[in-house]
Amino acid sequence: MLAKVDLKIPFHRSAMGEEEVRAVSDVIRSGWLTMGSRTFQFEQEFAQYVGAAHAIAVSSCTAALHLSLDAIGIQSGDEVLVPTNTFTATAEVVTYLGARPVFVDIDSSTLNLSVEDAKNRITPRTRAIIPVHLSGLPCDLDEIHTLAKSYNLHVVEDAAHSLPSSYRGKRIGANSMLTAFSFYATKTLSTGEGGMITTDNEAYAQRIRLMRLHGISHDAWKRYSAEGSWRYDVLEPGFKYNFTDMQAALGIVQLAKCDAMFQARCQIAKTYDEAFGSLEAVEIPTISSDRETSWHLYILRLETNRLRIDRGRFVNELMERGVQTSVHFIPLHLQLAYQRLYGYKDGDFPNAEKEYLRCISLPIYPSMSELEVRYVISSVEDVLDKFSR
Ligand SMILES: *Cc1c(COP(=O)(O)O)cnc(C)c1O
Repeated sequence: MLAKVDLKIPFHRSAMGEEEVRAVSDVIRSGWLTMGSRTFQFEQEFAQYVGAAHAIAVSSCTAALHLSLDAIGIQSGDEVLVPTNTFTATAEVVTYLGARPVFVDIDSSTLNLSVEDAKNRITPRTRAIIPVHLSGLPCDLDEIHTLAKSYNLHVVEDAAHSLPSSYRGKRIGANSMLTAFSFYATKTLSTGEGGMITTDNEAYAQRIRLMRLHGISHDAWKRYSAEGSWRYDVLEPGFKYNFTDMQAALGIVQLAKCDAMFQARCQIAKTYDEAFGSLEAVEIPTISSDRETSWHLYILRLETNRLRIDRGRFVNELMERGVQTSVHFIPLHLQLAYQRLYGYKDGDFPNAEKEYLRCISLPIYPSMSELEVRYVISSVEDVLDKFSR
């Protein structure tokens, strides 16, 4: 039985400390708030951390994905392969360019896109594939690159969950020509809102730097600084996707804590694995030995045939015990917009639907205390005790 304690465990709590407060205060006092020297420092440190030649900071991962698709020249009539179990941002950016997101079913064991299913959906119009490392677990990148090579596809990784993750010894961010990260409030490194693109390609880096700030000529960000000038050229109709030095101040402090925050999540995942690994009514994540997950999410899967309640009720039962959970993700082919625009319908992607109906994301973040982790575990056990058959 669950001890009666009044714990409320949110799905996420940000890990900002006094150091972040001081860093942002320093920026505010400096008199320069938007993109400037701190942003460039953060970019350099980030590039070095993941092992990429260039890192370009932008306003969100959505912007990072949009700018990446712009850089590779995606246009109207093109098709881009996207896993169906992702956040809408991954597919929505494809529509920004008038191209069509073509959904791909998942591999049930990893919850990442099935490379085999992706291959079956390639047409003469397919130009790119956006693998999403769900929960931080890297996709089968070697297989994806092999497929991309034989069909001449660009690979743009959605790494919103994957700092720090690694694949066959290389950090995510250093495996494909373009990788997009998120610094949204709930992500593993946060600047409140924000994103980053990493690339080894000089031409892409230049294009993205140009397009993130209105397509105006290099150094235009300086035009209100002491060494700036009023004169600038508009080279392209670009976007307003730049970063700010206030975000960069947070990012620099957070990046320095990234490894420690990762270790804290690893410890929580290990505790969950040990508690749930031997239970028959749930399935824990399996990570193959050639890759490392960031543990952005801990996705538990319910063996629903061993339970008298469904996933929705399971979420509610945990909520009643004070434990907030989430579900990643409602497959995009079940969402009204994509059904209306592209004719997708329920039943189109059986693996994704099956896993969607039995997955639940447990709280996992560095500021969780041992007591809170234990409380989540005993709450899950309590629900299982009550509703197993
Ligand atoms: C959070 C998220 C995004 C979008 O990130 P933003 O920084 O909020 O734009 C994209 N893809 C996935 C898989 C995400 O979880």
